[in-house]
Amino acid sequence: MNRPAQIQKSLQDLPVTPHWSDYDAERKNFSWSAVRDQLTGLAGGGLNMAFEAVDRHARGILADKVAMRFVSRANPALDLSYAELARRTNRFANVLQTLGVGKGDRLFVMAGRIPELYVAVLGALKNGTVVTPLFSAFGPEPIATRINLGEGQVLVTTDVLYRRKVKALREKMPSLQHVLLVAEEGGPTQEPDTYDLASLMDRADDSYSCAPTTADDPALLHFTSGTTGTPKGALHVHGAVLAHYATGRYALDLHAQDRYWCTADPGWVTGTSYGILAPLLLGVSSLIDREEFDAQRWYTLLEQEHISVWYTAPTAIRMLMKAGAELAKTHRFEDLRFVASVGEPLNPEAVWWGLDALGLPIHDNWWQTETGGIMIANTPAFAIKPGSMGRPLPGIEAAIVAHLEQDGEPARLRTIDTPDVEGELALKAGWPSMFRGYLNNEARYQKCFSNGWYLTGDLARRDADGYYWFVGRADDVIKSAGHLIGPFEVESALMEHPAVAEAGVIGKPDPVVGEMVKAFVSLKNGFAADDSLRQDILGHARKKLGAAVAPKEIAFLPTLPRTRSGKIMRRLLKARELGLPEGDTSTLEAGA
Ligand code: AMP
Repeated sequence: MNRPAQIQKSLQDLPVTPHWSDYDAERKNFSWSAVRDQLTGLAGGGLNMAFEAVDRHARGILADKVAMRFVSRANPALDLSYAELARRTNRFANVLQTLGVGKGDRLFVMAGRIPELYVAVLGALKNGTVVTPLFSAFGPEPIATRINLGEGQVLVTTDVLYRRKVKALREKMPSLQHVLLVAEEGGPTQEPDTYDLASLMDRADDSYSCAPTTADDPALLHFTSGTTGTPKGALHVHGAVLAHYATGRYALDLHAQDRYWCTADPGWVTGTSYGILAPLLLGVSSLIDREEFDAQRWYTLLEQEHISVWYTAPTAIRMLMKAGAELAKTHRFEDLRFVASVGEPLNPEAVWWGLDALGLPIHDNWWQTETGGIMIANTPAFAIKPGSMGRPLPGIEAAIVAHLEQDGEPARLRTIDTPDVEGELALKAGWPSMFRGYLNNEARYQKCFSNGWYLTGDLARRDADGYYWFVGRADDVIKSAGHLIGPFEVESALMEHPAVAEAGVIGKPDPVVGEMVKAFVSLKNGFAADDSLRQDILGHARKKLGAAVAPKEIAFLPTLPRTRSGKIMRRLLKARELGLPEGDTSTLEAGA
């Protein structure tokens, strides 16, 4: 079908006047200090994310307004007002105090979208305790790796997840002193060496005075995957709250009367920045659905919960597209006024599908764990170019850069000002939610910066109108169902299988999840490459890594292509898998 290159907007047609509609003027007049003035701050001049998100409203006119509405199949809906959320998070902060857990200590949370998780995250932030979310679909190994890297002292999880994923490796996590369990199977839990969270909460006081955190104190530690080595812990500070607030307005256009739904899993950065913080900061009511994806259920929730702003992801949209626009059309989304998506490239087809099925185009936006908040976005007032991620938000300067080499070493950066030329996407360093370090790895952190620019590792181009277009990643990291998966972590788990001699892992394009994890393995002598061994290796990987990270396909090869220096050439495995040109193979080991 012939479609126009742009979806034009007219301010008169929008049901709510957007927070901004003059792109250049807003960017020119913007300052982060003006954003800071819109927040309250702590007495004595400090800043605390959870105070701004919860207590500020709990003390004001929003006290009785619903902050979070939890829905699930099994239980009646639970509405928590700002005041009630303040009381529960105070209790949790007091629980931590009783355990001797304080400012700068590290707490991990791993659970589905249950109220206790949200209370724990916000309560820990109030206590100045650094929070790390873990994906509950991880298997035991990724969980233990991250807790050990982050030297987690406290873990909040459910009794079921604890028994399935943590208990067996508990002894291998020496830093972990306190495990607080939410009883899923009727409490209180009786697991040895753990606490029943509900009992601790019952005994705790519901008043608490926020820890004296400053804008530069660490608040969140998010793990993200790289191409090699262990996962990277990206450290964010309480001052990032300025960006959560500003982007909640600029990118998601949240207004106090909105009913907002972010479908992201709380184990990933979107689930924290936009599933917890941004809507609360703007005094909005959020829907939190405990269940997994179900097209019919999602449409019913959008309709019956009167959702007005919806933030979701390309994989989810593609699954809705698979279920057919007809299903969507049996519902009426009368309150829905803005739909946004993040995490992977959003196909132009999906943007148009939104217009047909939901009555609204989908607005793509771009950011990553390291940026802490949305950087580039399509927003309500401005034309969309389907396939483009949009334009940089106020307070964010972006560029396409080329690396100039000198004697084989990257030497200088050059910004590419000519439109439509591909290069690395870079951001001028210094926005408040910029990560402040990779845990215990200053060298890796420093490598992300050059000449005052943060290098994102993504390839992109900018067109003559200033819109950015995603081209691909500059590394081998896999994006599956919106989640970054490090090939090295998967390869390492495969190598632990007794039959596997070497393993190389790639992302193979998939129409629904973007990329699926495919592994190539060569076997040790004496093992036959047959289907039963394949199933055995798949089962081993799933048990160790969890279904979300484990490969979906395994192919056997006699040997894997390696560089002369011994590195597996994933790029070549991928080119061969996809029937693409093999590119430069000058470093390929002979005979591979
Ligand atoms: P994460 O750190 O897990 O949030 O992943 C960040 C990465 O996801 C980015 O560096 C991109 O590679 C990819 N990504 C995020 N948003 C988009 C988008 N709108 N379009 C294309 N890729 C995206």
